Amino acid sequence: MLIVMHHSATDEQVQAVTNAVEAMGLIAEPIPGSLRTAIGVLGNQGYVDDTTIRELPGVREVIHVSKPYKLVSRDFHPESSVVEAGGVKFGDGQPPVIIAGPCSVESEEQMLAAARLVKQHGAHMLRGGAFKPRTGPHSFQGLGVEGLKYLRQAGDAEGLPVITEVMRIEQLETICRFADVLQVGARNMQNFDLLKEVGKTGHPVLLKRGMSATIEEFLSAAEYILAEGNARVILCERGIRTFERATRNTLDLSIVPLIREMSHLPIVVDPSHATGRRSLVGPMAKAAIVVGAHGVMIEVHPDPDRALCDGAQSLNGDDFSKLVAELVRLQELLGSV
Ligand code: PEP
Ligand code: MN
Repeated sequence: MLIVMHHSATDEQVQAVTNAVEAMGLIAEPIPGSLRTAIGVLGNQGYVDDTTIRELPGVREVIHVSKPYKLVSRDFHPESSVVEAGGVKFGDGQPPVIIAGPCSVESEEQMLAAARLVKQHGAHMLRGGAFKPRTGPHSFQGLGVEGLKYLRQAGDAEGLPVITEVMRIEQLETICRFADVLQVGARNMQNFDLLKEVGKTGHPVLLKRGMSATIEEFLSAAEYILAEGNARVILCERGIRTFERATRNTLDLSIVPLIREMSHLPIVVDPSHATGRRSLVGPMAKAAIVVGAHGVMIEVHPDPDRALCDGAQSLNGDDFSKLVAELVRLQELLGSV
């Protein structure tokens, strides 16, 4: 960290900043210049919280060299991580993972039918929400623990690992018993207490980007999980909130190559929640693979028009089958370029 003082800063102010840095257990190295003094801060293991320093008299600017998300950044971990979750591998050198299934678990029959269908057409992991974060309280809220049972049963019937969303800390123990991967949804990306507890479980986690989260906030959220000793984190871009209303969200595809530069963690894309429109899911899933996503998460329902949640963005079996065939072909092509 480098602290830049105002040109008018007095020697006393420089000394006060030096004292404050040393009080934090760090080394302060004043660097006098012809116009102003800068103070180099040494001895920190990572990002330093600058809130007190920034406000001291005479301080013009604080420049950080270390990032606030050191565990997820490539600075401290240059090699890409491959995250294994339920027997499936996410990361560089692995074929893109296809996670598919309905938005919500609705019944035993619906889940068995969905699992059969996605497995038959080539999915590697089954999704289904049992605890649903719905915008309004009058919408279907999910079947809860009963839903977890149907999801697990359907996954086992087809030999697919399962992923489901956790919304509250109290649900964690039960969900860990039923699911191979914990999903932290967009609305909970900055639920820091939940992130810490998810980190403590050691269970694989798919962390979705918050709808208004910057990349720094997204990576800092992942840092909470890694800071608890759990490095089995898969990031997921699911679209962000912009002025555009023609699509449910705006898919920020540039985050994929950018995250791959900044972080060693794998990243997947959810074109279903990003677009909210069935016809756009396939094109954006293909685009995601082209820009380097390690997988896609697709909402698929045996009867989308009767879905209790997100039917408009859900593919039926035929659409999903066509899309998987295209993704496989695309992967072959990309492998040869
Ligand atoms: C979901 O995947 O079920 C979901 C609610 O998505 P998001 O958190 O991205 O809105
Ligand atoms: Mn959904």
